Amino acid sequence: MFSRLISVYSCASFAFAAILSPSLTAQTAQSSAQTASASVTVLHAAHLLNVEQGTVLSPGEILVRDGHIAEVGTAVTHPSGATILDLGSTTLMPGLIDAHVHLFLHPGAEDMQTVVESVPQRTIYAALAARADLMAGFTAERDMGTEGAGSADSAVRDSIDAGLIPGPRMRISGNAISILGGHEDAIHFNPAEHISSNATYADSTDQIIAVIREQLKEGSSFVKMYQTGRDTYVNGVFHTPWQFTEQQLAAAVAEAARMGTNVGVHCTGEPGALYAATAGVASIDHAYQLSDETMRLMREKQIYAVPTFAISEYFADHADSPAAAAQERAELDYHVQQFHKQLAAGVPMAVGSDVGPFPHGTQARELVLMAQYGMAPADVLRADLLHGARLLTWQDQIGQLKPGFDADIIAVRGNPLQNIDAVTRVAFVMKGGHIYRNDITPSAR
Ligand SMILES: [Zn+2]
Repeated sequence: MFSRLISVYSCASFAFAAILSPSLTAQTAQSSAQTASASVTVLHAAHLLNVEQGTVLSPGEILVRDGHIAEVGTAVTHPSGATILDLGSTTLMPGLIDAHVHLFLHPGAEDMQTVVESVPQRTIYAALAARADLMAGFTAERDMGTEGAGSADSAVRDSIDAGLIPGPRMRISGNAISILGGHEDAIHFNPAEHISSNATYADSTDQIIAVIREQLKEGSSFVKMYQTGRDTYVNGVFHTPWQFTEQQLAAAVAEAARMGTNVGVHCTGEPGALYAATAGVASIDHAYQLSDETMRLMREKQIYAVPTFAISEYFADHADSPAAAAQERAELDYHVQQFHKQLAAGVPMAVGSDVGPFPHGTQARELVLMAQYGMAPADVLRADLLHGARLLTWQDQIGQLKPGFDADIIAVRGNPLQNIDAVTRVAFVMKGGHIYRNDITPSAR
């Protein structure tokens, strides 16, 4: 999570309805979804997005067999007995990927969740969040820390994978890792109250490796570390203290690599970003401030920046006071200026919203903002789908409509290459061949 500059400990009233996406009222086909994977389905729509090429086919068809894409084109084989779904004027495209989510956070509580809500309670909210994200078209996500709920995310991920609850396919980190007194430690409280940290402590290389091994044992699939914080932005000067040395991060990267996975860092600025890029992390999330040398390393090593603009916009729009809103806006403006420099320097981007502190199911806004702040829509879609799949180490499985890939397919109203807003108008969601949402032909069989 990217915390507000102004104190996050003012616990706003918790509005349960806020985590329920409007899309939950959409037609869902969960019961039939359980039996659909063995069947053969042809999806037909007015258009189909080729993400790699940045082009749209018209019309578009996809043959789905046993949960995988079998054929893609303007006209595919229609086997006898296949279910034909005409999705009208929509555009077929790969399911969206959010590379920075928090299923275990919801609006209005933030860090106070660890104080006032039990882990079992938070796990129920996380299950609802997973459903909201899926219904909004996000078929794969990277959860960047349970924020004090330990390895409870493994229960959510495993329940999704078992078909018990609807949700995206998940890469999960368990708790994030932080130093004592670091970004997500429970500072500013009465010390006598012993408020729990939102992260797991590690202050030495040995402790980092031990925590990573413990988390992998408990079910995590990658490593999330807090590399900077807390931030200040005063008189146009951004400053953030680093948390781990380059050597410590390199040890974490090596330990993750030993188990076939990678490290993503919360990292807003320098010199922490340079340490992270040199150590070879997979992503630098938030990335407000990157030096020329850091940007060069990120381009050379294909380390993704994950800007997370949506949460900054939300915090600015929901600040406690006009002064706090102005502060959020000023920092967002600074980030946007830096983003322009990062794009010019060829820093590879992935798309992550930091959803959780703002309502799950609304985070397609992140793609809209990345386009608004200077990326061509085709580049935003490549960042989301191609880079996102690689960051989640599923690049041979999701993110493209290609034969052999998993049938993670959505249909949106409009052409996202012409107007990226189309990704906020999801009308159909399929994951692994199962249909979870169909606003176009709900009764078609
Ligand atoms: Zn986050």
